[in-house]
Amino acid sequence: MTATETHHFQAEVQQVLQLVIHSLYSNKDIFLRELVSNASDACDKLRFEALQDPELYGDEPGLKIEIHADKAARTLSVRDTGIGMSKQELIENLGTVARSGTRRFLEAIAEGRKADLSLIGQFGVGFYSAFIVADRVTVTSRKAGASGSFVWESTGDGQFTLSEGPEDAPRGTTVTLHLREGEDDYLEDWKLRALIRTYSDHIGFPIRMRKPGDGAEYETVNQASALWMRPKNELTDEDYQGFYRHVAHDFGEALAWTHNRVEGNQNFTSLLYVPARAPFDFQFSRDDRKGLKLYIKRVFIMDASAQMLPAYLRFVRGVVDSDDLPLNVSREILQESRQVERIKGALTKRVLDLLDRLAKDEPEKYAGFWREFGTTLKEGVAEDAGNRERVLKLLRFPSTRSENAEQLVSLDEYIGRMVAGQEDIYYLTADGWNAARNSPQLEALKARGVEVLLMHERIDEWMSGYLHEYAGKRLRNVAKGELDLDKLGGQVDKAAREQAAKDAEGVVARLKGILGDAVKDVRVSARLTTSPSCIVLDEHDMALHMQRLLKAAGHDAPAGKPILEINPEHALVKRLAGEADDARAADLGWLLLEQAQLAEGGVLDDPAAFIARTTRLIASGG
Ligand code: ADP
Ligand code: MG
Repeated sequence: MTATETHHFQAEVQQVLQLVIHSLYSNKDIFLRELVSNASDACDKLRFEALQDPELYGDEPGLKIEIHADKAARTLSVRDTGIGMSKQELIENLGTVARSGTRRFLEAIAEGRKADLSLIGQFGVGFYSAFIVADRVTVTSRKAGASGSFVWESTGDGQFTLSEGPEDAPRGTTVTLHLREGEDDYLEDWKLRALIRTYSDHIGFPIRMRKPGDGAEYETVNQASALWMRPKNELTDEDYQGFYRHVAHDFGEALAWTHNRVEGNQNFTSLLYVPARAPFDFQFSRDDRKGLKLYIKRVFIMDASAQMLPAYLRFVRGVVDSDDLPLNVSREILQESRQVERIKGALTKRVLDLLDRLAKDEPEKYAGFWREFGTTLKEGVAEDAGNRERVLKLLRFPSTRSENAEQLVSLDEYIGRMVAGQEDIYYLTADGWNAARNSPQLEALKARGVEVLLMHERIDEWMSGYLHEYAGKRLRNVAKGELDLDKLGGQVDKAAREQAAKDAEGVVARLKGILGDAVKDVRVSARLTTSPSCIVLDEHDMALHMQRLLKAAGHDAPAGKPILEINPEHALVKRLAGEADDARAADLGWLLLEQAQLAEGGVLDDPAAFIARTTRLIASGG
């Protein structure tokens, strides 16, 4: 290559650049963290590859990062002695190949909710943050083991150039920022040192800067040690938070962490964090999980979140450093390794312990955790049968005693305030908070002062398929099966109800005649006190709102027919019983079913018929 080549940025990359260049963003400092993080990744990669091929070090065994400011030229450089990039890699990595996070980043910023530029690193486009403070960026790189270097350069306006660099360039990469007008602060020694100490102190490689004065000597300005290997009692909260920002690419805080060394037939160290806020693209990443870095004897191997943490703990960020796994381990080996399985079990336990402690000792923090990650944790009820009881202990739900959907109760608290004679834990699943809290199914339980958990989130219905028992108590869905409330006492005793059922035999038969195939059964309800009717399901039927959801998504939902329960004390039911006119009786009968369907959040098969019916009844004097 003799001449300079010109390449165009891939369209989405160009949009990221536009965004970076034109947004009025106050926290400009982030660019340095991103560049240092890339330099550190490059050193990690070389160390990893050199395990197989030590020749790659050539005559420079040191892995380090240097930061150099040139006041006269107004440039700031970040150099590393890491893996370096070939010509093709410069082209692809820095501009022509959009990464999976690129579009998500653009969308996140456009939505403008909680995403801002500082999260750029979480989306895998951190390099472009260089353009926050630079109007021209030059990257010179020599790949380890190769001779000759290449120079990438761009002003961020749609294209970049590529040319040959010096033959004797040092191994690794130098990123040089030509600072924009007004950004001269980033040439100041004190400023750079402060930034490194704040954001990059725990990078595992030395970050070096010129000693103050005019000598050419460099000194290390960060801790440059693997933080997780240091004894806990030497580490402050700030140390932990600083390292969290580094591993999680987060400018926010960790909510809590757990740092442990395990010795025995497995030796490993883990440092696991629960973030205070969900990463922006969190909900997308069930299949593409990241955030747990696997080291083996201090060498970074790969992100192993998917192999070493269950999916329902995918919010955890941190590091695992094993002494025993083979350095040449592959993703496939990790997948099948019994050792890894054991580490995964231990990490899961650590996280559950941590959450347990948080829930007990710092309930407000725990509430914050629950807001961010509660829905994710619920997946554990289904996913982790072995820890189901522990996961259930951590769950929180609103109940019939809550004033709003945010007032939550744990199963333990619920059990602590069960009424005399109550043996089971009652819950209701529904499509939304209002449908749950106003459900007619709750009337009799409410009348007896029995609390019912109101599970109103999408995931709850699915989860409830795995709810059987907690602390030796059965978990009962109040909308399913026969509800035997007699042992709970209250106004209606068994004999009275049996009598009522007998008295209502006529109206039940009449209703069955009217509704025919539309229902599985009609019976007298033990659940109702004020509503005329409600719909219940057989023990193993899928909830109606779940059936609707599946249908809407184009699946074949089992069309479980509803059971209609009626309240013989209600005026509407009494009218039906005494109605002489068969046509009017039919209107009343269908109304009992349709009202129950609506109350449960359902959609009527034939809304026009429903309206005609109500209109007829009202017009004829009610
Ligand atoms: P990420 O670091 O999340 O992959 P970046 O936008 O920061 O995303 O970097 C993009 C890619 O460019 C990196 O994945 C890496 O392949 C390459 N890269 C960036 N900086 C360096 C460097 N100093 N040395 C080697 N490769 C680098
Ligand atoms: Mg990066």
